Amino acid sequence: MTKTISFCRATFRVESPTSVAAATLPIKNAVDLRLDRDASGAIHIPPSTFAGSLRNHATRVHGEAWTNSLFGFVADEDDGSETKARASSVWFLDSSVTHAKVEQYVATAISRHTGAAKLGTRRDSERLLAGATVSLDLRIDERLDDLIELVTTWRPVVGRNRSNGYGELAVERVDYGSVDLGTPEGLAQWLSHSGPDLVSEVVRAHSATVAEASNEAQAIDLQMQVVEPWTSDPVKDEGEDGHKTYRLKTNADGLPRMSAASQRGVLRSSISFILTTLESPLRCRGEACEHDRWECRVFGHGGAADGVGRRSALTFRESPIVDGVSAFRTRNAIDRFTGGAARGALWRTEVVTEGMVHLRIEYRSVSDADWQILLAALRLVIVDIQDGFVRFGAAVASGHGRFSVTTSTTGDPDADLMTLLAARTLLSPKDEVSAP
Ligand SMILES: [Zn+2]
Repeated sequence: MTKTISFCRATFRVESPTSVAAATLPIKNAVDLRLDRDASGAIHIPPSTFAGSLRNHATRVHGEAWTNSLFGFVADEDDGSETKARASSVWFLDSSVTHAKVEQYVATAISRHTGAAKLGTRRDSERLLAGATVSLDLRIDERLDDLIELVTTWRPVVGRNRSNGYGELAVERVDYGSVDLGTPEGLAQWLSHSGPDLVSEVVRAHSATVAEASNEAQAIDLQMQVVEPWTSDPVKDEGEDGHKTYRLKTNADGLPRMSAASQRGVLRSSISFILTTLESPLRCRGEACEHDRWECRVFGHGGAADGVGRRSALTFRESPIVDGVSAFRTRNAIDRFTGGAARGALWRTEVVTEGMVHLRIEYRSVSDADWQILLAALRLVIVDIQDGFVRFGAAVASGHGRFSVTTSTTGDPDADLMTLLAARTLLSPKDEVSAP
């Protein structure tokens, strides 16, 4: 009897910050959400993390029956007499992360009502930054061609925080090969290597062509220019002269960046505010809501009475500030008792005084009607951005974070009155106002 065993190694580039958190109990004074690590301390993404994603991809492309035949299934017979099951032909063997850059950051939940950080939700987290390489080893004994075709068109999204654009991987190369245990060469290869070494040895045989990335999402692009200095969750750094200095966080290219969570917090709270003002039937009613409304579908919700929440249909991305000029603003703490400057409390904060930022909002698997409402809502939010009522980043109450929208795929940023009235009507349809 001859037996052929095949291996496939997919190599991915990490495209956006990624967080596959370890399932550990929180330790006091330690990072609350730590990345998963292996026994040697290296960042690790468990191979099982990829299994659901590849299966979903197969279902989208080939349907459920095809997917069940490759990945196995467990199903109860209709009469309950017997359980049918089939094991997966694909084995998720091993994965490794190289060129890993880990960042610790502080996150808070954003209040929907104020657009600012919610009290008591601060946590320290870790994330793997974009640019790392992830490799995943798979084994399959039949239907190697089917597996290769699937992997070359795959764009896995793994880990937490996906609505902030986290966890996106792009396939860079797919190598594969087979060992024929019926031949002396195959048997020698099989017996002289094991584990990842065996896979490395076998997959040297072939390299598959990787498909161009397809992006099924609809997107809105906003280009904004800094009007009044922007600053955001800076990191503390002891200045050479001993004064406290807060620097802006930068991306891998050294550019200051506006986080996805901050963009989402600001835009959601602005849209919520507009819907509330218009008494729109589209808005989420919070605790009393059955979560069947536009805002619940688009922005997600924490769960109704049954406790089942829904993830946001929108994806935001971290955006670098380009063509920027940054400066340090020196500040002094005010003594609460004397009202004068407190001694020894001088600090400096880095701000961006000029620059452009490009926001991209992606929206997946939604109806055209919901999409049109989002465009209308954003047209109204843009008016508030232009007027300085909607601002981004930190210290907005002291005049920071004003932008001007220069171009937008929602239409002319300085829309005329008729366009705005049409947007308003779409958000507050008169005949639906009496709906519960
Ligand atoms: Zn709701």
